Amino acid sequence: MSTRDATLTQARELTHFIGGKQVRGADAKSGGRFGEVFNPTTGDLSGRVPLASKAETEQAIANAEAAFREWAATSPLARARVMFRFKELVEKHLEELALLISSEHGKVLSDAKGSVQRGLEVVEFACGIPHLLKGEYSDSVSAGIDVYSMRQPLGVCAGITPFNFPAMVPMWMFPIAIACGNPFILKPSEKDPSCPQRLGELMLEAGAPPGVLNVLNGDKEAVDTVLTDPRVHAVSFVGSTPIARYVFSTASMSGKRVQALGGAKNHMVVMPDADIDVAADALMSAAYGSAGERCMAISVAVPVTDRTANELVEAMTPRIRKLKVGSSIDAASEMGPLVTREHREKVKGYIDLGVKEGANLVVDGRDFSLKKHPKGFFLGGSLFDKVKPAMRIYKEEIFGPVLSVVRARTFDEALALPSDHEYGNGVAIFTRNGDVARNFAQKVSCGMVGINVPIPVPLSFHSFGGWKSSIFGDMYQHGPEGVRFYSRIKTVTARWREGVKPAANFGMPTMK
Ligand code: NAD
Repeated sequence: MSTRDATLTQARELTHFIGGKQVRGADAKSGGRFGEVFNPTTGDLSGRVPLASKAETEQAIANAEAAFREWAATSPLARARVMFRFKELVEKHLEELALLISSEHGKVLSDAKGSVQRGLEVVEFACGIPHLLKGEYSDSVSAGIDVYSMRQPLGVCAGITPFNFPAMVPMWMFPIAIACGNPFILKPSEKDPSCPQRLGELMLEAGAPPGVLNVLNGDKEAVDTVLTDPRVHAVSFVGSTPIARYVFSTASMSGKRVQALGGAKNHMVVMPDADIDVAADALMSAAYGSAGERCMAISVAVPVTDRTANELVEAMTPRIRKLKVGSSIDAASEMGPLVTREHREKVKGYIDLGVKEGANLVVDGRDFSLKKHPKGFFLGGSLFDKVKPAMRIYKEEIFGPVLSVVRARTFDEALALPSDHEYGNGVAIFTRNGDVARNFAQKVSCGMVGINVPIPVPLSFHSFGGWKSSIFGDMYQHGPEGVRFYSRIKTVTARWREGVKPAANFGMPTMK
């Protein structure tokens, strides 16, 4: 047996979680396919994840559909109680969930815990579902006629999620969908599937009936089945822009509701009056936290005037060189490895490209390696200065620990950069001038704006979403938009008028 075969045999075999049970994928002899899961710190294969076939996906949809009627008829208060118990269970298992994330994604434990916490905030929001689903009532709109509206569930909903937040992004979706009365199929990223699987088990333990939350592992075959199966009524997607565009067009052609969030290139404008040390510290966590694999990571710094740019680059350079890059489970690490070898090579390729395009590589993280784990998927932090808007390293999403500095001469030039960029997810401005900050927030063409806040992720009771190529569809994640997305309005017009029989009237009914 070769070393590779031996490692493959040692790798843990993962399952789906369907109808309240762990379900093994079809074995290779019967045509089953598997993906490989790695520990990014060691570079070792850690698991084999089944990739659901069309037939397996259809079975998962059937299980979810079978749970619909009873779950939809369960009172919102009883559904909220499941969410309260789920919240307690996630809190109890926080360390375990964070460890699963770190050992498959590579982000450091404190970051992994923080991401679960941000997901839990959506669960807390979903605990208020009886209030959130309250309809509207108009009394006596005409003689003896009242009108009221209610929000009802849609049916089976599905969520397709990216590798970079294996707990938080699924938790943007399923707690609200389920609290609204819908069964849910979660198709997490095949790169880090263990934490989403555990969330499925915890929902069952919290009291969600079998089939209400199903976790189906897979790739394009499973996704395509979900996008076209008529039993699925709404699809939430978070991932890269080309796939978001594809998911949006395919699922909406099948008549489904779709919210599809895509990639990003988030800018942080630094005005000449900003405190440079404060801005540099904010940039460090926003650009290099989670190895830059966050959709709200800052990947472009826009200092206004050359003097601000020189000061900022001078402040950033030693900070990046001192960045503690290490094992994702070492408490001393500030930045862990990238998710896969392929992704590390892709990011490295962009750094090579930036050099070729003529940007000034001030800090080069390409040669970083960790003595203890030489096979780990590590990169050091990199910093480019004098990046120009025409360069590909500016136009494209790199999704790694690489920060580009694009120098602007004026506020208007700085405002135009994120506004004219293809992506419009998040943006930030650092300044001490309220007028400038307000003007920027009003005019910039991006969905989420931070004023002296580098990663302006809205809290769960607001909604999350960008503009332009960062979103397809028109309803955002969580908050009020999440409740609207996972429910539909029914409006009842009722006449109760004792002793009066209306005569036939063939005109269009109007209110007197
Ligand atoms: P991805 O688009 O490669 O994958 C996302 C999901 O789509 C996964 O579940 C994957 O299995 C599935 N998928 C991949 N290729 C597919 C195909 N051809 N057909 C059907 N399904 C397919 O994204 P990723 O690499 O996992 O995640 C990183 C991306 O996600 C980045 O672009 C990042 O900006 C983006 N992201 C955006 C947000 C946001 O809120 N806008 C949040 C997190 C991540």
